[in-house]
Amino acid sequence: MRVLLLGGTAEARALAKTLVPRVDVISSLAGRVLDPALPVGRVRIGGFGGVEGLRRWLGDQRIDAVVDATHPFAATMTTHAAQVCGELQIPHLVLARPAWDPGEAIVVESDSKAAETVAQQRYSRVFLTTGRSGVKAFADSDAWFLIRAVTEPDSEALPRHHQLLLSRGPYRYDDEFALLRKHRIDALVTKNSGGDMTRAKLDAAAALDIPVVMVARPELPGGVTVVGTVQEAADWVAEVR
Ligand code: NAP
Repeated sequence: MRVLLLGGTAEARALAKTLVPRVDVISSLAGRVLDPALPVGRVRIGGFGGVEGLRRWLGDQRIDAVVDATHPFAATMTTHAAQVCGELQIPHLVLARPAWDPGEAIVVESDSKAAETVAQQRYSRVFLTTGRSGVKAFADSDAWFLIRAVTEPDSEALPRHHQLLLSRGPYRYDDEFALLRKHRIDALVTKNSGGDMTRAKLDAAAALDIPVVMVARPELPGGVTVVGTVQEAADWVAEVR
């Protein structure tokens, strides 16, 4: 059985490790990161060319099942995979790590709404962790930003006043606490990525009484089968097999 594993996440790498070599897995990465952490087994990198391209690729590669373990905000890829697998009747699963409980965070629906909130609330020293693609929504903001991302954002996307911190999780509570204090951060802006690798910043912000603006996840397409853990996804693959 050959499985397409849409990846780019720690969960996708963990699932590949669980399945390979018993199952013929091809992991797929978007190609956004220059030096991505690679899963075990076969890997392809780059877009498929939209719905058409994915349809063709799945046929050419004789894929029997698709596990979508992309980032919870990779909504386009997830929609395309659900649509094409539905049409071709290929068994399809979404592995979506559980979302964070937003608690007292101000929940917004997009990066641009988060930027509006920063302006409305007059936050002045913001820890911005919405990722490379989320930065451009803040380009016109007057606040100062500590921007943490895996890859450098385009220079025209950057706000006037900022410091860039290029790094990749996981992050520890003590380090996040120290970082927030060192930069005298007065607001944290984050996507609701979920998972343990990057949640320490929320705990540190809560401990320091720093308000959080959280971008809500895009909705999953209707009718898809969803699991929350790598083990459940591995069980699903075994069942399909
Ligand atoms: P997206 O908006 O869902 O995808 C845009 C296009 O990228 C897709 O249509 C597809 O191109 C290609 N693509 C995405 N994931 C792919 C995969 N696993 N294999 C092959 N092609 C893939 O996703 P995004 O632009 O990557 O990211 C959207 C948000 O998710 C951003 O906020 C980003 O920071 C966050 N995020 C994504 C990833 C990731 O691995 N994708 C990781 C961390 C964070 P075609 O239409 O040409 O097939």
